Amino acid sequence: MSLSENLEKLSNACGVAGREEEVRNIMIKLMKPHADQIIVDKLENVIAIKKGKKDAPKVMLAAHMDEIGLMVKTINKEGFLQFAKMGGIDDRILIAQKVIVNTANGPLQGIIGSKPPHIQKEEERKKIVAYDELFIDIGAENKEDAAKMGIKVGDPVTFDTKYAKVTEDTVIGKAFDDRIGCATMIETLKLMEKTKTDCTIYAVGTVQEELGLRGAATAAFGVDPDIGIALDVTIAGDVPGVREFDTTVKMGKGPALTVSDSGLITHPKVLRLLLDTAEEEKIAIQLETGLMGSTDAARISLTRQGVPSGTISIGTRYIHSPVGMLSLKDAEESAKLTVAAIRKIQKSF
Ligand SMILES: [Zn+2]
Repeated sequence: MSLSENLEKLSNACGVAGREEEVRNIMIKLMKPHADQIIVDKLENVIAIKKGKKDAPKVMLAAHMDEIGLMVKTINKEGFLQFAKMGGIDDRILIAQKVIVNTANGPLQGIIGSKPPHIQKEEERKKIVAYDELFIDIGAENKEDAAKMGIKVGDPVTFDTKYAKVTEDTVIGKAFDDRIGCATMIETLKLMEKTKTDCTIYAVGTVQEELGLRGAATAAFGVDPDIGIALDVTIAGDVPGVREFDTTVKMGKGPALTVSDSGLITHPKVLRLLLDTAEEEKIAIQLETGLMGSTDAARISLTRQGVPSGTISIGTRYIHSPVGMLSLKDAEESAKLTVAAIRKIQKSF
């Protein structure tokens, strides 16, 4: 299956932080043909192992399976749902969104409602409506009806966005942060079959990244790698209103390599490896530094006595919103770069 087909499956699935089961099952299915062994650890990270030589370095790849979303917090007596936010979501993007409430009985459609603008006072219309003033309308008649429909406190809620191709190379969909990392990791495993390395590869689909890189912590402790590479997204700043100072990463211009973000200064050995590999393979890359966010690489790097780590990112527009946009070519190039870098990893790591 192509990277686009894999991304479509992964993007359309529900995997709000802490509720990654549907995504994990897809990951297991897609990684299995390219791995010697699949493990699900106690926190429910999934680890695909491709065995190498006994004393060769252990490489940990990480792509997080979770996405930002909502969680049902209260069901009021009229049958409307209030919600908690899971991960960094801007309140301004919530109003009037179609959502899916993922109940034990299956998915239910709903919309995020608010008081209609027609009956708002002038001052009210000017201010941002905070998420705790919003509600999800699932068409229930009352609380009992909502319970009958299967709604429970704690049910994960995702944006109702379907994956689509808008040009041959450009796609839109939800949860590209970080399903594109997951799809790139699968592609990397696939490409590894056609090449040689002595390294053992641990391709890890991590849980709960959006809540503080939690899954990566336990997975890295278990794997005990010699080098860590996170495959994630970064902000593509090639849209109106973004200053060059904020980011120079553009969609479709190649993998972005992090020099530093709020949790990681990429290990010089890892940065050198990725830069040399890109040059040798003639892969166009973009460098970025001083980023506000962070990735699983930050947590991996602080495991045990420390693990040299870095991040390869796919520049994505509109991340942490109901729909993002990216270039498939950037993901393909990121997979190629990862494979070629693994091939270059020597005993010294
Ligand atoms: Zn991410």
